[in-house]
Amino acid sequence: MKFLTMALLALAGSSFAAEPASLKVYISADMEGIGSVSTWEKQASASGADYEQFRRLMTLEVNAAIDGAFDAGATEVLVSDSHGDAQNIDPELLDKRVKLIRAWPRPLGMAAGVDASFDAVVLVGYHGGEGQADSILSHTEDDTKYADMKLNGVSVPEAGFVAATAGAFGVPVVFISGDQTITRVTRELLGDIETAVVKVAHGFYAGTMVHPEEARRLIRDGVKRGVENRGQLKPYIIAKPVKLQITFKKTVEAEVASYLRGVERLNGNTIVYTADDMLDAARFVNTVYYLKVD
Ligand SMILES: [Zn+2]
Repeated sequence: MKFLTMALLALAGSSFAAEPASLKVYISADMEGIGSVSTWEKQASASGADYEQFRRLMTLEVNAAIDGAFDAGATEVLVSDSHGDAQNIDPELLDKRVKLIRAWPRPLGMAAGVDASFDAVVLVGYHGGEGQADSILSHTEDDTKYADMKLNGVSVPEAGFVAATAGAFGVPVVFISGDQTITRVTRELLGDIETAVVKVAHGFYAGTMVHPEEARRLIRDGVKRGVENRGQLKPYIIAKPVKLQITFKKTVEAEVASYLRGVERLNGNTIVYTADDMLDAARFVNTVYYLKVD
């Protein structure tokens, strides 16, 4: 009897071991770094003449990333549409295995929905930060609003801000796709993550594009490798308290932001907010973003 019980326990144990462990992947998708995208006017604005075609290309690149995540053993994937009005990804064309976050505002912005239950973060279609040379449509958050954003003195593109937000939950970024510049800059910031260079920027608009099918192959393969290697990558941790420095393009917006508690005005256009932690910093950014003073 005892032997039988032990044998049953052993069987139960082996069946538990065969059960796939949870592996959750979070994908944040922007549009300027999607393959073939080179202008806002025609391609990456909802009113653009070719927008419908390019939102389809964006959705298919996200699907390629989803395939890569499931190839690597993901059990759950959450996607955040993080461009423009955050309603670009075509819900019908999107891979049926995932859930999709759409629209703003949201306190964690481009990292909305990420938490400590996730194992890896994947960035698709990201672009260089404001002022970055040789990077298609480079800007930070809003090209009319911010000239720079720093975390504890380090200037970060949107990819760095999302990485820091996910890092606050202990989740590493494992992959980024975009042009040759944002992929290089993000590796310099985060370490040896996987990348897919889907275009080579010649400047702010012009670039040499790989074919969309090749872009999707690079993304699928890169995401698979990245998710598989997640254990080798460290979350991007910003020491607390977080000094969030924002340089506004409009002096009057820096002025009004400086009315808030905890904000110091460094010069006409630049403020520093001392945040308790990265999540506090993210909420601050996603609040002052809506500050519009004419
Ligand atoms: Zn962006």
